[in-house]
Amino acid sequence: MNFNFKKSLGQNFLTDKNILERIVSSANIQGNSLVIEIGPGSGNLTRFIAKYAIHVLCYEIDTRLEEILDENLKDFQNITIIYDDFLKRDIKTDIEKFSFDNLYLVANLPYYITTPIIEKVIQSNLSFKKLTIMIQKEVGERFMALPKTKEYNSLTVYLNYYFDIKREFVVSRNAFIPKPNVDSIVISLIKKDNLLELNDINLFNKLLKDSFKYKRKTIKNNLKNYDLKTLEKILNKYNYSLASRAEEIPLEVFVELANNLKN
Ligand code: SAM
Repeated sequence: MNFNFKKSLGQNFLTDKNILERIVSSANIQGNSLVIEIGPGSGNLTRFIAKYAIHVLCYEIDTRLEEILDENLKDFQNITIIYDDFLKRDIKTDIEKFSFDNLYLVANLPYYITTPIIEKVIQSNLSFKKLTIMIQKEVGERFMALPKTKEYNSLTVYLNYYFDIKREFVVSRNAFIPKPNVDSIVISLIKKDNLLELNDINLFNKLLKDSFKYKRKTIKNNLKNYDLKTLEKILNKYNYSLASRAEEIPLEVFVELANNLKN
């Protein structure tokens, strides 16, 4: 392909057909489905998705890809591409004109904005049946990390509040053009049926960020400006203390801590 790849846009295209097939089969697209893809690139993954979906809605920031996408996807009538920054879009409005029963997201994400993309998807409040994404391997390991490991962080807790996260498979850096400096992983995120009751998601998010701010510091030192007495009571109930570190504390305890804080 004669194309001047932009590193700044996370442009590493997948070339291996088996891997493309495997991503789509991990997504397990069922029924009348609208699939959102962020960053179709040259359309290599899009073609596979389009076989299973009623419609594929893609967001591509790089208008230089328009000609290539038109050519590569000309045999498909069920693909729409919006040439814009996904982060700036109102997804709810964009999908209004499609009729579908199930909504999916399948994408080989631009890695430099992995977290903002996922946060945007969560905040959209749309009921995605499943998100199947390829991301940087180390980032994926963090998403799935268990307490008391060095990978466990505020985003781990935040994501695991919403989703059951499944490791699908690892993809070597050699499967991409141009070859990136890191390996990748495909993971699936499925919204939990019974979300724990949470009074204020923003407060929860802030508590998480503050708790993990300095990883070596204790809860007491990271949360100096919080109502420490209240926090201590709850921590003690679960055999933790103000001297514990955030990385020891499981999701359920963070939820209870957040629910007992005042704005
Ligand atoms: N889907 C192709 C594949 O699997 O080979 C390309 C994936 S490549 C890792 C990421 C794609 O996301 C690129 O095509 C890039 O131009 C696009 N992209 C980067 N930032 C974006 C943004 N903010 N909104 C939409 N697309 C973006």
